[in-house]
Amino acid sequence: MTARLSPRDILERLISFPTVSRDSNLPLVDWVEDYLNGQGITAHRHYDETGQKAALFAHVGPWEEGAVVLSGHTDVVPIDGQDWDSDPFTLTERDGKYFGRGTTDMKGYDALAIWALVEAHHRGIARPLQLALSYDEEVGCIGGPPLIAAMQPVLPKGRAVIVGEPSMMTCVTGHKGGKTFWLDVHGYEVHSSLLPSGVSAIMEAAKIIDWANQVNAEEAARVPTDVAAMFEPSFTTLHTGLISGGTAKNITAAHCGFDLGFRAVPDQDHDVWRARILAKVAEVETAMQTIHPDARIVVDESFGVPGLQPETDGAAETLVRRLTGDNATHVVSYGTEAGQFQQAGYSAVVCGPGDIAQAHQPNEFITKSQFESGAGFMRRLVESLVEE
Ligand SMILES: [Zn+2]
Repeated sequence: MTARLSPRDILERLISFPTVSRDSNLPLVDWVEDYLNGQGITAHRHYDETGQKAALFAHVGPWEEGAVVLSGHTDVVPIDGQDWDSDPFTLTERDGKYFGRGTTDMKGYDALAIWALVEAHHRGIARPLQLALSYDEEVGCIGGPPLIAAMQPVLPKGRAVIVGEPSMMTCVTGHKGGKTFWLDVHGYEVHSSLLPSGVSAIMEAAKIIDWANQVNAEEAARVPTDVAAMFEPSFTTLHTGLISGGTAKNITAAHCGFDLGFRAVPDQDHDVWRARILAKVAEVETAMQTIHPDARIVVDESFGVPGLQPETDGAAETLVRRLTGDNATHVVSYGTEAGQFQQAGYSAVVCGPGDIAQAHQPNEFITKSQFESGAGFMRRLVESLVEE
């Protein structure tokens, strides 16, 4: 058996792997698997289609259903264009903080989860504990569903999932979900003096964007449901963040490309929102084609991320509230893999050390006190599994 590492030692190793989402995470996965194997724990992998990235999952304790699942992602956002005072991939301690890319989002939690798994294995627990580490979370939670699908036939089904995105160790029971569309509007070019015989892609795009403004106003005027009322704003919003098009002031634009996304409160059906958007696009396209048959709108859909819906008497919430003593209600505005676990039939919450404000920043850090608070949580979790 190899030496057992402290949470801080594990964090130092994890930070040393530059697992930016566009690059391979295999060196990190190799290290985690070797470490777990050295402790007598079997780990399983699921590779993505490129073979350059893998999710890792493991189970300790009795081989039965009902495990607590500790879920984290292994990838980090790039450091491109950021000014760092120390090497982002070397854990650096200063002023009561650990600096390094991923310290908060979310290798701090990953380190604690790995530590807890090893601790639970050696202590001997009455109820099982699982570890689930994904890839490609930072590029739209793409790696969550394949990891969840890969775990299910291999491990006994878990009961309560704790997704350790930074929440300052509060118990987060809800977040919005959403989806983005990229729309390429293809118009018909004429000199703008002949406007009625041309189709301006920009002006057609503007109709869809203005419709989004109207929808936002309608949604804002609604009386929110109890779930929606937890959020600020308490309604689903449509948004365009990027747009480009046109070639000259006096030509009806042949092309306009823009994004249109929705961010939905968790008790609303994404399929309904998708259908509403596509229906509006079809309506505008039909009108364009009465002027010129070649005019069209090509829609490219991103991968959607489900919201996390607060559960009634959820197993994950009950457990995390007991271990943290946090009985307040928290929801967050960022998406996580918790909604994906919930959609797959698990009870799920978000609870992890660190402040989301530090995520993705230059000089990303986690305070030692937050990391310690996460370690205390894991010790209490292991203790509770020993006793149960
Ligand atoms: Zn994250």
